[in-house]
Amino acid sequence: MTIPLFIALVVVVLAVGLFAFRAIPAIRAYFSYRGKRLITCPETHKSEAVDVAAGEAAVGAFLSEPTLRLKECSRWPERQDCGQECLQQIEIGPANCLVWNIVSQWYEGKSCAFCHKPIGALHHLDHAPALLGPDSKTAEWREFRPEQLLDVFSTHQPICWNCHVAETFRRLHPELVVDRAYEPRRMM
Ligand SMILES: [Zn+2]
Repeated sequence: MTIPLFIALVVVVLAVGLFAFRAIPAIRAYFSYRGKRLITCPETHKSEAVDVAAGEAAVGAFLSEPTLRLKECSRWPERQDCGQECLQQIEIGPANCLVWNIVSQWYEGKSCAFCHKPIGALHHLDHAPALLGPDSKTAEWREFRPEQLLDVFSTHQPICWNCHVAETFRRLHPELVVDRAYEPRRMM
């Protein structure tokens, strides 16, 4: 092997190593900061839903430190020029303000108000659990705007997906539902 070729090889190996070394914090930043989050708006003191520019945070982490900036907020476009001070809340606890985690924690340990089966934490592949409103209507939690969820949780009861489907059918097609009293089968 000639010396210039050896030097070129060393440079390539170092460059690949450095890339991999910087890619790890970048990937970590991307996965930490993606997803819809709930914060308390420092201006209104109300719950608002925001998205961090996760790709930009990853590029920042690759170069030095993740740079946090909002990509979306439920108060935009009206307040698009705000100082984005809510980002401090996300920096302190990126996982605590994720909508998915907040909803999952709310359902955890709760049982369906109809069938009393435990609902438990959310799973990505399971059917989404639902909520029973004061108007006796049921709806999946995803049907509410994220920034409404904390208020919704204080007025609604947890419902499992099966009961939500049955109740929706009962509400939309009452003429097709017959409620029969339970009759034990007789032994022949
Ligand atoms: Zn149920």
